[in-house]
Amino acid sequence: TLQLVWLRSDLRVHDNTALSQAAARGPVVAVVAPCLAQWVEHGHGANKLDFLRRGLHVLQQALAGYHIPLKVLDCDTFAEVPEALAALCDQLGAQALHFNDEYAVNERERDRRVRERLTESDVRLHRYTDMLAFTPGELLTGKGDYYGVFTPFSKRWHKEVDSRRLALNEAPQVQATPRDAQGREIHGDAIPPLPETLKGEPATALDAELWPAGEEAAQERLERFLTFRARRYHEQRDIPATRGTSELSPYLALGMISARQCYAAVLAENGSLADGDVGLTSWVNELIWREFYQHILVGFPRVNRHRPFQRHTEALQWRDDDAGFVAWCEGRTGYPIVDAAMRQLVQTGWMHNRLRMVTAMFLTKHLLIDWRRGEAFFMTHLVDGELGANNGGWQWAASTGTDAAPYFRIFNPTTQGQRFDKDGEFIASMVPELAELPAKRRHQPSADDCQQTGYPRPIVDHKAARQRALDTFKALSKSE
Ligand code: FAD
Repeated sequence: TLQLVWLRSDLRVHDNTALSQAAARGPVVAVVAPCLAQWVEHGHGANKLDFLRRGLHVLQQALAGYHIPLKVLDCDTFAEVPEALAALCDQLGAQALHFNDEYAVNERERDRRVRERLTESDVRLHRYTDMLAFTPGELLTGKGDYYGVFTPFSKRWHKEVDSRRLALNEAPQVQATPRDAQGREIHGDAIPPLPETLKGEPATALDAELWPAGEEAAQERLERFLTFRARRYHEQRDIPATRGTSELSPYLALGMISARQCYAAVLAENGSLADGDVGLTSWVNELIWREFYQHILVGFPRVNRHRPFQRHTEALQWRDDDAGFVAWCEGRTGYPIVDAAMRQLVQTGWMHNRLRMVTAMFLTKHLLIDWRRGEAFFMTHLVDGELGANNGGWQWAASTGTDAAPYFRIFNPTTQGQRFDKDGEFIASMVPELAELPAKRRHQPSADDCQQTGYPRPIVDHKAARQRALDTFKALSKSE
């Protein structure tokens, strides 16, 4: 009988558990529910929505090669999905629905409602763990709690992971075009365009060539990374000017590549995920961070609601500083590495990990602005925007999260720049006002330099701002 596969953040044909399992049972029809209004409500902006839209086109073509039609539900929000799926199953005569699990609370609630609704219609539901090596809840501490700290989680992950969990799924076979209960051929639907406005603003996405969508593009990136960069990853991953990382995050976030495919590639090169080449094993460590934050979403649901992981930090007195916030967003803080990073985010939809840490810490410590404002700004621009990692990263920087940076360890943005962008190359590439200055002065332009180039003077003094943050955090622990 006809098998319906609902594709969500797993937009690929290869190594897709739900698709592979469904195809082993009978003819397959795929379905997506773009729910753009819901995505906007979750804070995503045009960059990510456009990447999704382009990804759906590529996916539809790839599926067509197997004669798998891609249906598109006309749903704006998650609330509409259960009924729309039930109607589609009815229309097609499908008695089974397969999907790979997602872990944020709204997604899980949506899936719970889908289960309820389809049970009423006698459609069998098949759910799979696909995004992660372990289903959240499988890896718990000795006390039966979710891990709230990364290192023991990752040790346990390495200890328990085995070849069964990492085995790649078979791609489906080319099938005959499926037919509905009346014997009519089933055809795919049109992919909706990007809405014209998002939150009242024109929805303009970046140049599509910056982030070509789809699994082929993702595989090419993986290949290039492994060939040219992976073995030096541990030395180069912190240097924004060298592009030493994989730049696979947007593809992982929408499942245009699977984490298993990344692990398999490392195993093929290195024979192990934990030992051997330091570059490759450090990269695996980052992939495990991704898994860790998904487990956190399930184990500590409050973070889904943008509440701090560490409850006592709820009482922190964040500053209302709209002018400071706008200067940060626009890359005009007068701290060159911070400004270069923020401009990278806005111009490319992506920011280097080291710089995500530097800019997030600058906002939450130097400006003492609520991390949630920064988290939301990142989300609207990031092509890879994803609740688990974004929230985790922000709470880390704000010292409110799991494994958080201790509040007194505040990055000095100038020395971060000097250390990780030694020759000011990255600054020059993003802050043209400073490009003509000698490398050393790009990190700390003088008052004259600023006057001549139009680059702003620092909006806060590092020492004073640092002290203000220390005092605020100290007052918090006293008031506990
Ligand atoms: P690589 O270094 O090649 O790493 C490989 C993959 O591992 C990444 O693609 C990503 O999927 C995963 N990964 C790497 N670092 C982390 C991490 N610290 N936490 C979780 N997963 C990680 N990552 C996102 O995917 N989406 C986000 O919305 C996001 N927001 C962030 C916000 C802040 C404040 C911080 C500090 C980090 C954030 N990260 C986020 C994590 C990290 O910065 C990006 O995953 C990374 O920069 C992506 O580049 P890459 O693909 O070249 O990574």
